[in-house]
Amino acid sequence: MTAMTHPRIVIVGGGTGGISVAARLRRKLKQADITVIEPSDKHYYQPIWTLVGAGVFPKEVSERPEASVIPKGVQWLRDAVASFDPDRNELTTVGGRHVGYDFLVVAAGIQLNWDKIPGLRETLGRNGVGSNYSFGTVDETWKAIREFRGGTALFTMPNTPVKCGGAPQKIMYLAEDYFRRTGVRDQAKIIFASGAGNLFAVPKYRATLEKVVARKNIETRFKTNLVEVRGDAHEAVLENAATGERESVHFDLLHATPPMSAPDFIRQSPLANPDGWVEADRSSLRHPRFANIFALGDAAGLPTSKTGAAIRAQAPVLVENLACAVQGKSLSATYKGYTSCPLVTGYGSLVLAEFDYELNPQETFPFDQSKERHSMYLLKKYLLPAMYWNGMLKGYL
Ligand code: FAD
Repeated sequence: MTAMTHPRIVIVGGGTGGISVAARLRRKLKQADITVIEPSDKHYYQPIWTLVGAGVFPKEVSERPEASVIPKGVQWLRDAVASFDPDRNELTTVGGRHVGYDFLVVAAGIQLNWDKIPGLRETLGRNGVGSNYSFGTVDETWKAIREFRGGTALFTMPNTPVKCGGAPQKIMYLAEDYFRRTGVRDQAKIIFASGAGNLFAVPKYRATLEKVVARKNIETRFKTNLVEVRGDAHEAVLENAATGERESVHFDLLHATPPMSAPDFIRQSPLANPDGWVEADRSSLRHPRFANIFALGDAAGLPTSKTGAAIRAQAPVLVENLACAVQGKSLSATYKGYTSCPLVTGYGSLVLAEFDYELNPQETFPFDQSKERHSMYLLKKYLLPAMYWNGMLKGYL
């Protein structure tokens, strides 16, 4: 490839990944013409929804106008991408525009498939059903926890990839703590029904979580999927993945994590890998078939846990490599799969899991991060949000 002086760079998605990359590119490639395509006029700091669902913060702390996070000198096209034509270096939008590019970055996030569970959408916000997985439903979680007076509290996790694999259980630990503090714990049965085979992929952190679950007297059911909700009857239908057997469980509170997938417009595009995610080399983050396309974040087909923390490690690598490509050089930066999950285990305690592609811990602090710590809870509550808005989205962290 030959060097380019004024490359046109289009970024699909103005969420965590898209804005982090836009801010870094703006500083690194001063002559580039950079456009972010993003349909929403709001930007969300989603990790705080765990604490919003537990009544720690109002949901408004997670939301800012999209316009306020678009870096200076970057154009915002308020539209949604409908399809890609990578052979012509062009994409089309839902609004009917054709947009050409020299380089493309795809950061369109993950799709929540609420409708894959019959009855779920209809009962969200009613009958004790909530979900931390969207801005529109996170308040319902807190309402359900606050109003719970005993009975069965059911927390589910699907068998698909999800964003922040720990979030479906973090809210359960907070709810259990809340029930204890408000005197209803003795009247409550708590069940975690998970499509996964165990609590957490990394043995070091799993060992702690298994102790947490035992201490809190939570019943776990693995390889078990939520397949239907009959809201008015307060019934959840659970299916055992091994036997296909179905069981109807009465609930008084249900926190549902919907099944997720790559967004449809990506799944149906030439950029997709066989699982629907944007195909990307796991080290360079470049598309293996289209050399001018890069991907990061939840939409990227990378074999690591989908988190904002992963993006913090991916964005500098992607920008470095994209800059190399612009200059016609070979790619020099490598991503090793770093991701992190701050596993809240109660109001005031947290296990900070950090690991790489090989599931080896990659810890930041000089102490054993698999222990529950108050200091790490304070990090999640106060420091990480500030780092996000003031550092990461500005391209400094
Ligand atoms: P997003 O930030 O979701 O952005 C995707 C953007 O693409 C959106 O703005 C969307 O509107 C846009 N888009 C969609 N379709 C189109 C289209 N057709 N055209 C153009 N744009 C489009 N991460 C952590 O690191 N730590 C945590 O503790 C943590 N906790 C979490 C708790 C919860 C409850 C949730 C829901 C998430 C949590 N996460 C956590 C995960 C983290 O928020 C995501 O991994 C991260 O936001 C992914 O960034 P992204 O840019 O890939 O996607």
